[in-house]
Amino acid sequence: MSKKLFTPGPGNVPQLVRVQLSKDIIHHRMGDYQKILFKVTDKLKNVFMTHEEVMILTSSGTGAMESAVVNLFSSNDEVLIINTGFFGQRFIEICQAYNLKVYSLDYKWGQTFKLQDVIDMFANYPNIKGVFVTYHETSTGVLNNIKELGDFIHTKEALLIADCISGMIFHQFEFDNWHVDCALASSQKGFSLPPGIAFVALSEKAKEKLSFSNLPKYYWNYQKYLDFYKKGQNPFTPAISLILALDVSLDTILEKGISNIELEKYELRKYLEMKMQELGFELFIKDENLRGNVLVPVLTNKYDIPKLVRFLDDKYNISVSKGQGPYANKMLRIGIISDFAFSDIDELVSRILEF
Ligand SMILES: *Cc1c(COP(=O)(O)O)cnc(C)c1O
Repeated sequence: MSKKLFTPGPGNVPQLVRVQLSKDIIHHRMGDYQKILFKVTDKLKNVFMTHEEVMILTSSGTGAMESAVVNLFSSNDEVLIINTGFFGQRFIEICQAYNLKVYSLDYKWGQTFKLQDVIDMFANYPNIKGVFVTYHETSTGVLNNIKELGDFIHTKEALLIADCISGMIFHQFEFDNWHVDCALASSQKGFSLPPGIAFVALSEKAKEKLSFSNLPKYYWNYQKYLDFYKKGQNPFTPAISLILALDVSLDTILEKGISNIELEKYELRKYLEMKMQELGFELFIKDENLRGNVLVPVLTNKYDIPKLVRFLDDKYNISVSKGQGPYANKMLRIGIISDFAFSDIDELVSRILEF
């Protein structure tokens, strides 16, 4: 029996995609692969809403985060990280690992950023070369407003780098219109694939910076990916099976339409929030306008969270995530990225009642 993944990624992989994953692969230096790479990239452009090509890397999301840092910046560059949780913190750590000069705006978990704080940072540090933000912060469930940020950063020299790894697909995202310079996503969240590949879009403004970066890079060198893409190839052996499966998954996504997926997940979230409150859990994010449709974070004094998680997983094959960082044992993060119906939520609730 397969497990129900109420986790914020990976989620369950749809049957259609699993069928594709069971098939044989093709060779990545042949013509049929070239056709597929062009086709898949065009579909990715529709998802990112961009005219730029979208690169496919072989890594989980964090590899894509690191790739943005090593390609777009140089040692001692000043960068600003909008830190609204665990994944904002990860950008801080990556930038520090490469000796960038890191400023951060650190917000309380469960809150979003204030644009005025960003404006003030630029007034105090006019040499900021890049701003990093997390679209949907998976540790807290907060959805940050990228458009608002893009409208401001666009007026500056700085680049805007957005980690859209869990937010994309579940929420409209408009790379070109929102003036994002580098957007990152990965296969195991909204794209309904197993983990293993990541996607990166770059604006013209970002591409112009590539040749100035002095940080060490080889496998992650974006210029190689852009050059090889012209030939319909990847510079190194790509995760061929996952790319073939991505083609199938993107068809489902684009046929359904992102706005419909967003609405479907919204309705699932509202239902889950209601049910969890009935069980005596407290919603972590008080402001409805900040809540993303990716997971429902809840708090409780009534249940022992680590025990509950183990009970559901061991006894009923239902995997639910605990909190991260300071909330590791206090929060339940119930992901709704798998293709669930209301009845799946009812099942989860009835199992929690048995605990
Ligand atoms: C899942 C996720 C990541 C990437 O984590 P990996 O485990 O490296 O795939 C990064 N940022 C956010 C917001 C995420 O949800």
